[in-house]
Amino acid sequence: MSTAEPLLEIKNLCVDYGLGDQAVTAVRDVTLTLNRGEVLGLAGESGSGKSTLAYGVTRLLPPPGVVSAGSVIYHPRSGPSVDLLGMTPAQLRAFRWAETSIVFQGAMNSLNPVHKVATQLTDVIKAHEPKLGAAARVARARQLLTMVGIAADRMDSYPHQLSGGMRQRVMIGMALALEPQLVIMDEPTTALDVVMQRQILGQLVELRERLGFSVLFITHDLSLLVEFTDRIAIMYGGQIVEQAPSAEIYATPLHPYSDGLLHSFPALRGPRRELAGIPGSPPDLRGMPPGCPFHPRCRRALEQCETQPPVLARPAGVGGNRTVSCWLHPASATIGHAMNGDQILGDPVGSH
Ligand code: ATP
Ligand code: SF4
Repeated sequence: MSTAEPLLEIKNLCVDYGLGDQAVTAVRDVTLTLNRGEVLGLAGESGSGKSTLAYGVTRLLPPPGVVSAGSVIYHPRSGPSVDLLGMTPAQLRAFRWAETSIVFQGAMNSLNPVHKVATQLTDVIKAHEPKLGAAARVARARQLLTMVGIAADRMDSYPHQLSGGMRQRVMIGMALALEPQLVIMDEPTTALDVVMQRQILGQLVELRERLGFSVLFITHDLSLLVEFTDRIAIMYGGQIVEQAPSAEIYATPLHPYSDGLLHSFPALRGPRRELAGIPGSPPDLRGMPPGCPFHPRCRRALEQCETQPPVLARPAGVGGNRTVSCWLHPASATIGHAMNGDQILGDPVGSH
């Protein structure tokens, strides 16, 4: 279902909190492409910048967040490509409803407690397809509920009469109500137990097969992504440090941080892995370590890691479509900038 045709191209995106001397850069020079029909996972510890990236891309950054550089090119089904960062507020509103849906952390708690599920679903449909009659709206709402695995007779339930998993499914149904091309989910299942998380993500991937939308799925649980996504990007200290097809990252993680993340969560399927965790804590964005930002925690650090920032690049001698930012994997080509912001000369490649 996934194609090599780009839907969303994030290029050299930087997001700061605050201005001038007080600014803290939470997303640094991120370049990432989401292809049409693809499920792309974004993983990293808390504070690595995953949500900031999602908010920056969709222009929902709360103050004092500001996009300080880069572009976010969206390729619609028809018509010319657009830079989301250059859109007027009116264009952006239209785009958000017609093309994209966003489910943020804790979204299931944003259902209105005093309205039945049916009313909330039909209200969304009515607001954006005003010409649809009442009966057609109800029929569409029933169809959406069934699609996300909830019996249509729960239409008359209030949110408190549904389990957390069911409420989250309702939110996903709402997110898909207008048949978006781009669905961004930021830790939508973290409040649920691990079995329910997997059920919901599995169902989302099935729906993607049928409806053809693309998903950017954000979580700190890399093992969840390995099972369900086509490709995974790993974030550390606001940067992408590795990206690869999911099966490849699972079989041979190249960056020691990816390896650490994989060994931090138990896998439900496949061979057992020893759980080890990652020593130390994530970097303080106000004073990033010199060299490789991961070096204070890296068990495999080399001397140069303490002073010289590696660049995100295709590793030499490794097949497939992968990029990694680590001195253990010398580059065959470079992309973007060194971690200290210096322009890198080389053979530029895309991240997809
Ligand atoms: P989590 O999984 O906990 O949501 P995350 O990877 O999504 O983490 P972000 O929430 O994007 O990370 O945060 C990235 C960095 O930006 C963190 O260091 C955080 O402290 C900082 N940050 C986030 N929001 C603000 C804010 N409103 N003001 C200042 N700094 C912020
Ligand atoms: Fe570890 Fe060095 Fe690779 Fe950074 S560049 S992840 S410190 S080996």
